[in-house]
Amino acid sequence: MNSPWIAPEIAEAAQAADAPDAAARALKIERETHKLEKRLCRQVGQAIMDFGMIEEGDRVMVCVSGGKDSYGMLDILLKMQHRAPVNFELIAVNLDQKQPGFPDHILPAYLKQLGVPFHIETQDTYSIVKKVIPEGKTMCSLCSRLRRGILYRVADELKITKIALGHHRDDMLQTFFLNMFFGGKLKGMPPKLVSDDGGHIVIRPLAYVTEKDLTRWAAHRAFPIIPCTLCGSQENLQRKQIGNMLRDWEKQYPGRIESMFTALQNVVPSHLMDTKRHDFQNIRTTGVPEPEGDTAFDAPDLPTPGAPGGVQLVQL
Ligand code: SF4
Repeated sequence: MNSPWIAPEIAEAAQAADAPDAAARALKIERETHKLEKRLCRQVGQAIMDFGMIEEGDRVMVCVSGGKDSYGMLDILLKMQHRAPVNFELIAVNLDQKQPGFPDHILPAYLKQLGVPFHIETQDTYSIVKKVIPEGKTMCSLCSRLRRGILYRVADELKITKIALGHHRDDMLQTFFLNMFFGGKLKGMPPKLVSDDGGHIVIRPLAYVTEKDLTRWAAHRAFPIIPCTLCGSQENLQRKQIGNMLRDWEKQYPGRIESMFTALQNVVPSHLMDTKRHDFQNIRTTGVPEPEGDTAFDAPDLPTPGAPGGVQLVQL
């Protein structure tokens, strides 16, 4: 049962089940994997629809780093391409930043075997960053700025209409809390937005997908993962802390992550304090009952998840 081709959770589920023999266990694994694939396709399809990510004739640049998330995104988008109501092209793009030990044969071989059009852009940003940033300081901000500029140029050259990035639901929640805790902003990671240079549309088709599902899918598909520590840079400690905090919360209060993610889609500006988002100066009485109005003397509402009028947990 311990095969690298089978995600650990799926293998455990099969063993735990009252499966009388190997054939029944294999069937159980197949069913679990099929359910996972269906869920991934449904969630990606839903995100594409909800945020209008892909339109007829789009040329979508799928940024592939060699990590599980971007492999998963490409894999699911290729499946969606066959069943989508619109025609669009997928072009996988990888930026080889010349980090020491980067196995530059892995991605071309994999993409060739998939049969997807691809482009590998080779630019030695690693040497530039090493030269400019003093030893021991974090290199990520310069490195990502350089990478962004290069990928925007490549997108122009390839006549790309959408740039797809492999951030998932957990990345988005982490970013939301990072901005709140360390940046003093209620700001997340958008599923679709114009790029900072104003010239491109960036989409995140994995917006509704959990990291856990991507990990299971990567194990099932045995993607040739390229380690992301080649640059030698430290992992962002703040992001790591937030990730641990979210995991602990979820363990203690199951459903909290789901509820927080739903909250990102149900913003009520009149109940926050941003004078740029809500015109507090010109508030006037209307004489008409307002369901979203202030309940004045009542204690603050603590809605019960799933209860009428409470937080609705969206099952994706
Ligand atoms: S982790 Fe390494 S490759 Fe990634 S942004 Fe930071 S310096 Fe660049």
